[in-house]
Amino acid sequence: MFDTLLSYVAPHHCSGCDISGTLLCDNCKYDIISEPFLQCAACGKNSAGRNGLCERCRVPYTRAWCVSTRQDHLQRLIGNYKFTNAKSAYTHLAELLDGCLSDLPPDTVIVPVPTANSHIRQRGYDHMLLVAKQLGKLRGLPITTSLQRATNTQQRSASARQRTENAKSAFICESKLDPKKNYLIIDDVITTGATVKYAAIALQHAGAETVWVASISRQPLD
Ligand SMILES: [Zn+2]
Ligand SMILES: [Zn+2]
Repeated sequence: MFDTLLSYVAPHHCSGCDISGTLLCDNCKYDIISEPFLQCAACGKNSAGRNGLCERCRVPYTRAWCVSTRQDHLQRLIGNYKFTNAKSAYTHLAELLDGCLSDLPPDTVIVPVPTANSHIRQRGYDHMLLVAKQLGKLRGLPITTSLQRATNTQQRSASARQRTENAKSAFICESKLDPKKNYLIIDDVITTGATVKYAAIALQHAGAETVWVASISRQPLD
């Protein structure tokens, strides 16, 4: 009801070209997905192999996908979604992830990176949970919310070093995981890579053997 009202008062505009009526038009969506991300999702520096990672990175997950660098249309779309209450962006973000992921085995479980409670309260929604549910619908895959935040430390204004320290103890996994399944962590942006790394370790501590990562974007390198 409130959503409907809000979209009436402030109609959505495309995050790329500004036409009204949608948060991302088909042309701008095509602009994003037509240029596949070829760098390593973990470091952003080296070119990636078939698993989406470079040979140098040692990470606790064995495959990675990333839609694109966090810039232009995609940066604005994610920004609108997280900071201006453009809730319906989750459908576009799930479609972008769906477009960059390869075929996944049916025993894959989607694991959204949990959001800090204070952010959920501010936005009125858990942004990655909505994307995970939508991606699950598109792919016919289940999701799990057993990955939880152990602390509510916020990442946005922290330095790179603080982020890594915060991330180390940021996650716990509340239930035992099935070693025969593949767990696909999804997040909106990889910056230092610390968040997905420690999320993956928390899943492994709970029994997961195969952990993969898909991110909607990667922070550009300086
Ligand atoms: Zn557009
Ligand atoms: Zn790398």
